[in-house]
Amino acid sequence: MRLRNIAGSREVIADSDFTVKDPNEKKGLWKKEVFCNDNRIRIEIGMGKGRFIMDMAALNPDVNYIGIEKYSSVLLRAIQKQEQTLLPNVKFIRMDAEDITEVFAPGEVDRIYLNFSDPWPKDRHAKRRLPSRQFLARYDSILAPEGVVEFKTDNRDLFMFALEEVESAGWNLDQVTYDLHSDPVMNVGNVMTEYEERFSSLGNPIYKYIISRKRKGE
Ligand code: SAM
Repeated sequence: MRLRNIAGSREVIADSDFTVKDPNEKKGLWKKEVFCNDNRIRIEIGMGKGRFIMDMAALNPDVNYIGIEKYSSVLLRAIQKQEQTLLPNVKFIRMDAEDITEVFAPGEVDRIYLNFSDPWPKDRHAKRRLPSRQFLARYDSILAPEGVVEFKTDNRDLFMFALEEVESAGWNLDQVTYDLHSDPVMNVGNVMTEYEERFSSLGNPIYKYIISRKRKGE
């Protein structure tokens, strides 16, 4: 998602209390210094306009949520929403997720959500895909031992690629569905994203997996 450049969006982000400006300085300190509690931290990478993460935060006030988005023009929409809702358990970071290990300490994150990630269809761009083995290695170093990655998309090619990466990267495929909205188990409590609503209304099935790291002996 890339909205037209919106004049002043960088300034709004810089002034907003809902964004964390120097996230590297919070590495290992998110609970203590940013949220001032001991609740779990869950992040969405590529949150777009933030609907999913803010709905999740409203439903789960005892969880801390951080939305990560690369583009100011998109993040601006999430900030505007948060100015209305004032959820105490949501913060945003404008950054490229390639640098995620600079921002979170080992084990600091309990769950990572990837929703409708950009497909990067050219082979030579595979390592930019958020469910690629290169990104799984980054997630490995910030996730808690029992932490999971949840990935949803309507893009079949991207999903097939992501499934292959799970195996190659040595993770466990804990749950998988090729039609989330018809899945009696995985659809329970499903919170829709903006893209999910748009593409499922066109009749596209939604694919989802939940993965975790292999423990010794598995
Ligand atoms: N998750 C939202 C949804 O499901 O409605 C938005 C999906 S949109 C297709 C993907 C978003 O991920 C875009 O807003 C894009 O800017 C962001 N994104 C892509 N690669 C990223 C990266 N490396 N770091 C941070 N954000 C990224």
